Order: sequence, then structure tokens, then C-alpha cells
Amino acid sequence: MKSYRKELWFETRTRRSYINITSQVNASINESGIREGIALVNAMHITASVFINDDETGLHSDFDLWLEKLAPEKPYSQYRHNGFEDNADAHLKRQIMGREVTVAITNGKLDLGPWEQIFYGEFDGMRKKRVLIKLIGD
Ligand code: ZN
Repeated sequence: MKSYRKELWFETRTRRSYINITSQVNASINESGIREGIALVNAMHITASVFINDDETGLHSDFDLWLEKLAPEKPYSQYRHNGFEDNADAHLKRQIMGREVTVAITNGKLDLGPWEQIFYGEFDGMRKKRVLIKLIGD
């Protein structure tokens, strides 16, 4: 069995951002030489997510508005976490959008459903953050 590890780095220009990373995950599978196995893709930060959904800008806007209703960024004083930080909302948004995805690798590619794409969800950006890709298989 082979294993392969890669980090993807991000520094978004806005506090919140949704980035399709599917092609980068597929590229890592090519680099690994793995044909059959499992891909784990996870955010390495507690204010960012990796999730699977549709690559449709209206939906991304809907996610953003929905998350802002659930956990508004401001006022910062509404959160007990915001003593030395201002990112309590980002922790809450990450929690509901999830930490990671696990996807089958079949015939050297991600075995996704017809509209499934993998996204990095940033909720406290404008600084360097990363995603871990871990692949196992043969
Ligand atoms: Zn924090």
C-alpha cells in the first residue's frame, strides 16, 4: 500500500471565501501514482472547512448569507470567545460546514457524484492557512 501527503496553502483576500480545490486534489492523486484507494482532505485550521457541494456561485452566496444569519460576524462583543480575538463567528461557521471530506479514488481519479466538487471554505482569511491531502491505496 502507498501513502502520499500534500499541503495546499491559501491566503484569501477576503475574510470569507469558497475555493474549488477539486482539480488540485486530482493533481495530487496523479502525483501519488495511486489508482485505487481513499483520499482524505481536511482543513488544518479551526476557522476553515473542507466540504463537498455544487460549484454554483448562487449557492455559494446562499451559503454565505445562511452562515451569517446563523453566526453573524458582528458585533464582535456578542461572543465570549472574542476576548483577544474577533473570530468566534468563524469557529462556529467552520463547525457547521465541517472539517474534512473522505472520497474514494477509483481508476486514478476522485470518484465523485455528477455535481460533487470539493471546496475550501475560509471563514477567517487574509492570512496563510492550509489544507492537508492524505492519500492511501495502491
Ligand atoms: Zn478564535
